[in-house]
Amino acid sequence: MTLAPEATSADAGNPAGPAPTFDSIDPGRGTVLGSYPVASDADVADAVARAQEAATWWRARGFDGRRRILKAFKGVLAREIEDLAEVVHLENGKPRSDAILEVAIAIDHLEWASKHAAKVLGPRRVPSGLLASNQAATLEYQPLGVVGVIGPWNYPVFTPMGSIAYALAAGNAVVFKPSEHTPGVGVWLGDAWRRAVPERPDVLQVVTGLGATGGALCRAGVDKVAFTGSAPTGRRVMAACAENLVPVLMELGGKDAMIVDDDADVSAAVDAALWGGMSNAGQTCVGIERVYATDAVYDRFVAELTARAAEVRTGSGDDAHYGPITMPSQVGIIERHIADAVASGGRVLTGGTVADGVVAPTVMVDVPEDSAAVREETFGPTLTVARVRSADEAIERTNATPYGLAGAIFTRSAKRGVALARQMRTGMASINAVNAFSTIPALPFGGVGESGFGRIHGADGLREFSRSKAITRQRFALPIPTTSFRRPPEVTERLVKVIRLVHGRS
Ligand code: NDP
Repeated sequence: MTLAPEATSADAGNPAGPAPTFDSIDPGRGTVLGSYPVASDADVADAVARAQEAATWWRARGFDGRRRILKAFKGVLAREIEDLAEVVHLENGKPRSDAILEVAIAIDHLEWASKHAAKVLGPRRVPSGLLASNQAATLEYQPLGVVGVIGPWNYPVFTPMGSIAYALAAGNAVVFKPSEHTPGVGVWLGDAWRRAVPERPDVLQVVTGLGATGGALCRAGVDKVAFTGSAPTGRRVMAACAENLVPVLMELGGKDAMIVDDDADVSAAVDAALWGGMSNAGQTCVGIERVYATDAVYDRFVAELTARAAEVRTGSGDDAHYGPITMPSQVGIIERHIADAVASGGRVLTGGTVADGVVAPTVMVDVPEDSAAVREETFGPTLTVARVRSADEAIERTNATPYGLAGAIFTRSAKRGVALARQMRTGMASINAVNAFSTIPALPFGGVGESGFGRIHGADGLREFSRSKAITRQRFALPIPTTSFRRPPEVTERLVKVIRLVHGRS
């Protein structure tokens, strides 16, 4: 299949002639799927200028108007879910069924964001407090204006939509720069918006290009940049945004761990480790890359995991569990991590090979904690499993990384599970499941440390794309003024007495 990209809005009216283009490649078959314009700095600036105008219109729709329009957008995504999933399958390489699941979750988030925006962001009365009891105080969250979204290729719908849906629902216009590996998905989304909302296509625009196009977006006058990708590129994005004090949201990588405690359901933990570590060929920021299993369950866990990993089917066919590595350069990183693990005394129990861009399901044990396979983000279908004396030791090792995105805990004790989840230095944790938080729109998603900052999803995700506005209205004048040059001297004495009375006894 050849994708037939429409010219992006950034391509229109270029006086220097047709823009240079780049190709989108099917990672499974190596064929060219389509060519897309490399948007120049001027193209990006034009798109942002159009978005600024559209943002005024969009903001004026109010929560109800926006909800109606986002419903129409959601309708297009839902009706054409298979079409969008096919583009995801072709550009990213994941199985069609996983692509469908990805789009379905993104649609659910769009629904939640548009449904809850008014309640989360709309005006509300807040208590005025002791010293300002004559004031009515209200808080509301206003849109920022134009949000630039720089997206990755691993979940090319779910991840950017985590920013796009929440930014739109909060009343912002969006300019989206998809990864050069999945431009067709980005263009599809922009086109879907144009079909759903033909009267205002500029509320959600897509600009295609390489890294420099993302850099241009940071400098084009946007009011915030939401970035998902690697920490090194994240630093470059922050530096570009710092030039104009543009705030940033950073969703970066992870080195997520699973802890399997003494009393865990081992088979369930194995199943979850396989899915968490190997679905999407392990190219998941919240994917499981390390497992810490206690003495009591280690042998059984490793035996079952190795047997089950050998059953995982790979390739581009419809019966495959996962596909090829999307970005060819990633294969070298995965191979380096496996080689480093082996060189430092680790053993590969299954997998460890690469054929036609597909990395075999790989389970490694006895890998030292300071090896690259345990310390760095691998972003491949590999799992290291380490034996620990207790879940407390597992927590120590889990937290001994600069990353802090998510993690999973397997235990039959709900109380112990929650206690361990709280101790994980991560933004998210699942007990007896993996990545469950991703599918719950009300929960915020984001990391700590090298995994970034800021939150998409949930109420926090809506507020991330808004600015708080505090408004007071004086309901009556105080009989004795406190904030006036006509304040009598005895007011200060009375204030001291009141403060001592109210706060001094604690
Ligand atoms: P990058 O972080 O380089 O790219 C992410 C996005 O940023 C892409 O849209 C990319 O565009 C864009 N970009 C690149 N350079 C710049 C720049 N200077 N200014 C603005 N935007 C820029 O990730 P890669 O895709 O190269 O993947 C590298 C590693 O990042 C992976 O191995 C993985 O470890 C991690 N990663 C983590 C993800 C996550 O979900 N947290 C997602 C993707 C990757 P373009 O693609 O056109 O270069």
